[in-house]
Amino acid sequence: MHAFKYHRPSGIDAAAALVKGEAKLLAGGQSLVQAMKLRLASPSDIVDLGTIQSLQGIKSDGKSVTIGAMARHAEVAASADVRKAIPALAAMAEMIGDRQVRAMGTCGGSIANNDPAADYPAAVLALNATITTNNGKHEADKFFKGLYDTALKPGEIITSVTFQAPKRAAYMKFKNPASRFAIVGVFVADFGGSVRVAVTGAGPSVFRQADMEKALAAKFEPASVANIKQKQDGLNTDLHASAEYRAHLVTVMARRAVEAALK
Ligand SMILES: Cc1cc2nc3c(=O)[nH]c(=O)nc-3n(C[C@H](O)[C@H](O)[C@H](O)COP(=O)(O)OP(=O)(O)OC[C@H]3O[C@@H](n4cnc5c(N)ncnc54)[C@H](O)[C@@H]3O)c2cc1C
Repeated sequence: MHAFKYHRPSGIDAAAALVKGEAKLLAGGQSLVQAMKLRLASPSDIVDLGTIQSLQGIKSDGKSVTIGAMARHAEVAASADVRKAIPALAAMAEMIGDRQVRAMGTCGGSIANNDPAADYPAAVLALNATITTNNGKHEADKFFKGLYDTALKPGEIITSVTFQAPKRAAYMKFKNPASRFAIVGVFVADFGGSVRVAVTGAGPSVFRQADMEKALAAKFEPASVANIKQKQDGLNTDLHASAEYRAHLVTVMARRAVEAALK
């Protein structure tokens, strides 16, 4: 690891003033510290968000749930508010990594990182979330730009994420047995009249499955998606799975998610 300067600002403005040039924000370090150890990242300065109170906490008004950027996955999984308003979101957080990763990893860090196999981006897209930053608001549909790429400008800080509560929803993932990242994960959310289906793990970045959304809006039942085939073009092939296998998993996970949402 290279040498760096460590900062612990107590507010957003102070953090924003520090995160310039080669400086990096630090949330739980679950991606950033690994990248630094591997020398894939060598920031000049680390701006730790851990002591900024306004980034903590979870609020719900029944119609939506707002999660502070620094809320840990374990907090989201255990939150009575999240479990009541959007049980599928709490269940998704519970599926992330292992106990240690859930104790440190954060909502804001996961979304800002946009790992192609991360679970949160699927929840953000399926639950039509709004990402609030120190600079304004981003709609979910315009936020994820590509592999590890988002609409965030350099130095822009996610402060919270507001998820819309659907009528019913579920997330199913076929996980990598070692890391538990998604080989393919599908989040299905029925808003009563409109349905959103978000797929993670399959391609370079999370995406919506329009054919499945249309079929489920017409009839919300497993059979509606059981014969919809995901195109293989542009899907990932790596040591874990081929594009062909991932395409097959999209249909299987979508069908299982609809089954789970109906229970
Ligand atoms: C062994 C292991 C297994 C894992 N398994 C899974 C899994 O199954 N599913 C899954 O989804 N994830 C998984 N993860 C990832 C984990 O969930 C973390 O959420 C993710 O790595 C982000 O980590 P972090 O929140 O600690 O952010 P950090 O690593 O601290 O930061 C990540 C990036 O986001 C930026 N950032 C952080 N906070 C903000 C903010 N508020 N505003 C703007 N930019 C910000 C940082 O500058 C950095 O570039 C796993 C990680 C590990 C190490």
